[in-house]
Amino acid sequence: MPSIKTEAERCLKCKKAMCAAHCPVSTDIPRVMELFLNGEIKKAGEVLFSNNPLSAVTSVICPHERNCTGHCVLGKKGEPVRFYTIEEYLSRFYLETMEIPEIQKNGIKVAVAGAGPAGITMSLLLLQKGYDVTMFEAQDDIGGILRYGIPPFRLSRDLLDMYKDIMLRMGLRFRPNTRIGTNIMIENLFPDGYKAVFVSTGTGRPRKLGLIGETLGHVHFAVDYLKSPKAFQLGSRVAVVGAGNVAIDAARTVIRRAHSHVTILHFMGEEDMTANRDEIEMAEIEGVEFVHYAQAVRILENAVRCVRVRRIQNEDGSVRFEEDYSEVFDVPADSVIIAIGQGPGADMYSAGIKLTQRGLFDVNEWGETGTPGVFAAGDIVSGPKTVIEAVAFTKKVLSRMEEYLNQTAKE
Ligand SMILES: Cc1cc2nc3c(=O)[nH]c(=O)nc-3n(C[C@H](O)[C@H](O)[C@H](O)COP(=O)(O)OP(=O)(O)OC[C@H]3O[C@@H](n4cnc5c(N)ncnc54)[C@H](O)[C@@H]3O)c2cc1C
Repeated sequence: MPSIKTEAERCLKCKKAMCAAHCPVSTDIPRVMELFLNGEIKKAGEVLFSNNPLSAVTSVICPHERNCTGHCVLGKKGEPVRFYTIEEYLSRFYLETMEIPEIQKNGIKVAVAGAGPAGITMSLLLLQKGYDVTMFEAQDDIGGILRYGIPPFRLSRDLLDMYKDIMLRMGLRFRPNTRIGTNIMIENLFPDGYKAVFVSTGTGRPRKLGLIGETLGHVHFAVDYLKSPKAFQLGSRVAVVGAGNVAIDAARTVIRRAHSHVTILHFMGEEDMTANRDEIEMAEIEGVEFVHYAQAVRILENAVRCVRVRRIQNEDGSVRFEEDYSEVFDVPADSVIIAIGQGPGADMYSAGIKLTQRGLFDVNEWGETGTPGVFAAGDIVSGPKTVIEAVAFTKKVLSRMEEYLNQTAKE
């Protein structure tokens, strides 16, 4: 692996940088590269942080092949520049050495519900502008999926502790173990002086398979398992049902914790899997077995019963999957982990907020919910997506929220 300096020196600093054009937050990659090569690492870190407060996280877990790295011109004929390695170094250095400036408070109170990537981004941006921010979080710490989903071998928790420390030093008031929508409803916040509420409660509720056997004692949902893997006794053979990154994270965590034999089974082929290629590759290296074209139809005490699925190419080139009930087989399993997607929790049905058919917050392009003063962003709006997309939309929502706050402050 070349040093990050060698990597930065390979960058062509394109006038029309395709890497930056394909970054959801339009990171000014040529400028950061130039500052880094001039030795101005603090300034480079500041440029990154002010554009994307979570750059220390996204540099580690973004799907780079879809964004910056995947569009580097050098990648057309050879090795693309891995900007994220430089970004990770600069962002971490910036957080570690960050001095909090004196912030002029404006006396305007804002409530943030949910301390995941969207909530952290909004809080950091508001705090720097002098707002009084109170963050309500159902869990006992900040991070959302970054802390209670993505395994520590992919994302170090000390980054989240640094973010918490920075926000507290900027004046954040944090209410852990407090679920909005139970004792405190959104509408209870305004009488206490909050001028706006930002909802970023994510999609933490797992989707069900809807099969017989799903409530048995050896069956678990991946997002529940990933929250605290040590709480689970899984046995020596574990079957994970699903084809996305969550399935892969669960499988790789099981391998590390329980030293079990892990099988991922799903109804599609390898080429159709939604998980990132490099994650699939790592799971294979670590010994995860894949059973493709298997549709789970029932969960038994010691196996997942499946039927074979046929992949059929339609005349128009599209693909469909058909179950073939003449081929039934069992994948042995002492435990089963279900990872077929997530949706929003049911606790936010208040304040007259309009929801979509999927139960997501129905907002306009600026994150306005239709209930005055209530804004939303992140997975609760988009459905399960990525951290960088949550950051990008939160930034957009902030601009409209500030317009609203400036207006209501005058009234
Ligand atoms: C296992 C897994 C792996 C992933 N890997 C990646 C990856 O590698 N790269 C990537 O970019 N994305 C990844 N994602 C997706 C990414 O984590 C999400 O898109 C992102 O976390 C969404 O941020 P958010 O702030 O909207 O929601 P969340 O991160 O879900 O945070 C929501 C927060 O709100 C809290 N909350 C919920 N309800 C309430 C309530 N009623 N009151 C108060 N608080 C509440 C929750 O406890 C949580 O802390 C992954 C997702 C999962 C599940």
